[in-house]
Amino acid sequence: MKSELLGLARGLRRRLEQAPPPFAAAKTPRDKAARLDEIARAIESCRLCALSATRLKAVPGIGSPDAAVMFVGEGPGFEENRRGEPFVGRAGELLDKILASIGLSRRTVYIANMVKCRPMKDPRTPEARGNDRPPSPEELSACRPHIEAQARVIEPRFIVALGAVAARALLQTEAPISRLRGQWQDIQFGGRTVKLLPTYHPAALLRNPDLKKDVWTDMKALKKALCE
Ligand code: SF4
Repeated sequence: MKSELLGLARGLRRRLEQAPPPFAAAKTPRDKAARLDEIARAIESCRLCALSATRLKAVPGIGSPDAAVMFVGEGPGFEENRRGEPFVGRAGELLDKILASIGLSRRTVYIANMVKCRPMKDPRTPEARGNDRPPSPEELSACRPHIEAQARVIEPRFIVALGAVAARALLQTEAPISRLRGQWQDIQFGGRTVKLLPTYHPAALLRNPDLKKDVWTDMKALKKALCE
């Protein structure tokens, strides 16, 4: 009896070792797109934190499965929650212009957020404007496996953290974005070492246009790195 059980356990272990890991590195763009679709389905049915109870649509991400750069924000807002796409509305339009300024677009990079469902100040009034809030440390931690899984598939050369929340979460620091921006740093992300460039969030530029020159400096640095 004991030897039968040992045999069953050995067989099970062998089958698990031979099975592909759920979001293993995919090699061709078509494989990568299929893997990203799997991750998107997992995100859409995710219940790992309380934000799942109030979302209209989860917002997995958008762009090229083979992107050299991932742009990462903090979380969906009012419009993203309705459309299921990151960076739409005025901040999204500005991000499109920033990308175009260095010859990139929504189709050539990958755009995602640290959390995939909308954090609200008051979840009882989802239709109210001005009801967005930054994700909590617990929400960031619960959602992190999703963006790590996306990065594991895409294997980007560079990450651009858009804003303080994403930059601090990825760098595990409390430093202000004004000190972090423009400073390349190596991080462990998606199972690899990736170069991270923090910059300001487009919404911050809408509030304070003086920050645009810093973002332009950062985008020129990104373009130079992409050409090397
Ligand atoms: S925010 Fe992330 S962890 Fe929370 S329910 Fe949505 S997908 Fe899941």
